[in-house]
Amino acid sequence: MTSKALNHVLHPYINYTNLRSLILISIVFLLRSLEHKLELVPMASNLDKGLIVSFGEMLIDFVPTQSGVSLAESPGFLKAPGGAPANVAIAVTRLGGRAAFVGKLGDDEFGHMLAGILRENGVEDKGINFDKGARTALAFVTLRSDGDREFMFYRNPSADMLLRPDELNLELIRSAKVFHYGSISLITEPCRSAHLKAMEVAKEAGALLSYDPNLREPLWSSPEEARKQIMSIWDKAEIIKVSDVELEFLTQNKTIDDESAMSLWHPNLKLLLVTLGEKGCRYYTKGFHGSVEAFDVNAVDTTGAGDSFIGAFLSQIVDDQTVLKEEERLRKVLRFANACGAITTTKKGAIPALPSECDALSLLKDK
Ligand code: ADP
Repeated sequence: MTSKALNHVLHPYINYTNLRSLILISIVFLLRSLEHKLELVPMASNLDKGLIVSFGEMLIDFVPTQSGVSLAESPGFLKAPGGAPANVAIAVTRLGGRAAFVGKLGDDEFGHMLAGILRENGVEDKGINFDKGARTALAFVTLRSDGDREFMFYRNPSADMLLRPDELNLELIRSAKVFHYGSISLITEPCRSAHLKAMEVAKEAGALLSYDPNLREPLWSSPEEARKQIMSIWDKAEIIKVSDVELEFLTQNKTIDDESAMSLWHPNLKLLLVTLGEKGCRYYTKGFHGSVEAFDVNAVDTTGAGDSFIGAFLSQIVDDQTVLKEEERLRKVLRFANACGAITTTKKGAIPALPSECDALSLLKDK
């Protein structure tokens, strides 16, 4: 029989739809067996996953077309969606989890573009508000040749700062299993009150509170004010993630060690995470502490690594918080989070570089 004739005979059975289903089933099977091997939480169907609600700002980062120059010297800028809480929501959905974003955008082209990016990435949009009077926030960001990042914000005021407590979608917030937030939303009213109310409502409804301060010093009136306000909600969170730079800033201690980290401990805390860039992370619980090494990758832009790390971590513990009490399982989840953080550094920008579950599992498998 010629191949054409064979194709004709088999055609009703092996058509493209069947072939696609077969490939999809094989991929899911492969992922499940990898998850099983690596003892990670299966992410297959996201309908039965707990909801992670991420609260705060989403904005447009303008990134210079030429690297290593100051903002003033840059010949042009490219726009990139940014804002740590929005990155975290997308980090979760990219890995197969369920996330919603709560915040406010300008009722302008940029605001609707950002809401579209969240939707395209599967983030629930029922908590997004639009402000008719204020613009979507902008941030001009540059990586100087000395490696330091320079920020210039356009928020005078921007829509995110104007979110009011009465605009919150309380039903959505009450349905969160994890409620995640930063500290930028604490800087000005009325957003500060909206943040405090959302936290309280989430807590009352039984959500786990997760806090990544994401210090942006130029947005605060002074370092003292930043420290005071960041710490004002410290004892509410059950999971806190800080970077080494934030640990130094908050403790005013140049030494990054267990003692300085533990000075940030509070009795309601279940887990304190300190991320250390290419050195991985440290973890502290009531019963044990330790560190998990990073992955050796070719880092080109570290934007969003911390958001990817915490998003990955939350996606793994949202439905089983017993992990927080079992060191071996916690270390596996942190290895997964480190892999996600590492992958995010290998591409420019935050959102385009956030890994899928498949990307993360293949890095874990190879190392
Ligand atoms: P933040 O973005 O909040 O400052 P970090 O830079 O510490 O956070 O990065 C978060 C995590 O991402 C780290 O704990 C690490 O696992 C991973 N990561 C960051 N930078 C690198 C890098 N250069 N190489 C490998 N992994 C990295």
